[in-house]
Amino acid sequence: MHLEGTVLRGREFEPVEGRVVVEDGTITNIEETETDSTDIILPAFVNAHTHLGDSIAKEAGEGLSLDDLVAPPDGLKHRLLRAASTEEKVAAMHRSLRMMERGGTAACLEFREGGVEGVDIIRQALDGRDIEAVVLGRETEAAMEVSDGFGASGARDAEFGELRNATDNAGKLFGIHAGERDSLDINPALDLDPDFLVHMVHPEPLHLERVGDSEIPIVVCPRSNLVTGVGVPPIRELVERTTVALGTDNVMLNSPSMFREMEFTSKLAAVPAAEVLRMATINGADIAGLNYGLVEEGRDAKLLVLDGDTDNLAGAKDVVRAVVRRAGMADVKDVYL
Ligand SMILES: [Zn+2]
Repeated sequence: MHLEGTVLRGREFEPVEGRVVVEDGTITNIEETETDSTDIILPAFVNAHTHLGDSIAKEAGEGLSLDDLVAPPDGLKHRLLRAASTEEKVAAMHRSLRMMERGGTAACLEFREGGVEGVDIIRQALDGRDIEAVVLGRETEAAMEVSDGFGASGARDAEFGELRNATDNAGKLFGIHAGERDSLDINPALDLDPDFLVHMVHPEPLHLERVGDSEIPIVVCPRSNLVTGVGVPPIRELVERTTVALGTDNVMLNSPSMFREMEFTSKLAAVPAAEVLRMATINGADIAGLNYGLVEEGRDAKLLVLDGDTDNLAGAKDVVRAVVRRAGMADVKDVYL
């Protein structure tokens, strides 16, 4: 198979007119050549932080505080999850996964509530879909054992040392929320030496220094932070110090669209568009150990093709900026996952 058009090649997303050659699902060559195609070929997205379970509760809870919305065990989200049947949850998650797939998302890093049963629910929801979910179980060690790792709520909620060690011994991923509403849980989260932190809206200079020294990756979810009223993360300061990836967080709060998250991030933070595109692709892939997220030889051919000649994108003078700040679901021509 080969795809022709403007290829956003490699880690810099350098726009190259040409052809991506794919053999047995792997990118084997990027050939520069003239083409009539107006397609734009880029890596499929990696959504680095989702909670898909609350797909059953879109836009619930207007006006509630962060705690009242999502804090375990009795925030609105957790009550709605308990009240919903397994069938409802599977069906709602399946639809979110399908939407993400159609929007060019190859994988998500999912924090999955509900212990072992919760992990089983997303496995059911993934049935028949091409999108991959890197599932981090929550609440129990058993949930970690049957999934790809452990997704901790935050260091203020419990002592996670034992779970962190068990996850490490299993060779799996350990992620933890930190610095979402204030800075108090950042040091204890960093002390756990996690594989990644989520949010980091409120780092103090000391925390930024620790992030820089440890280079622990960070997943930011700026739209979510705005919805819950906690502020916005200092994205540029984080990007200068470590790997930063983008996530859309709870489906309850935000549509799981990487186009929307990229546009918002790009207009919020003083970082180049190519940096934002790395946050939406390779950086999340690197955190999860996935061999895609870039158009380069040897990578899995998980690719997104946009129609560069839609009314929305035609005439763009800077392709990468147009993809990051302007493109949307309606510009998607093909998705190869
Ligand atoms: Zn989260």
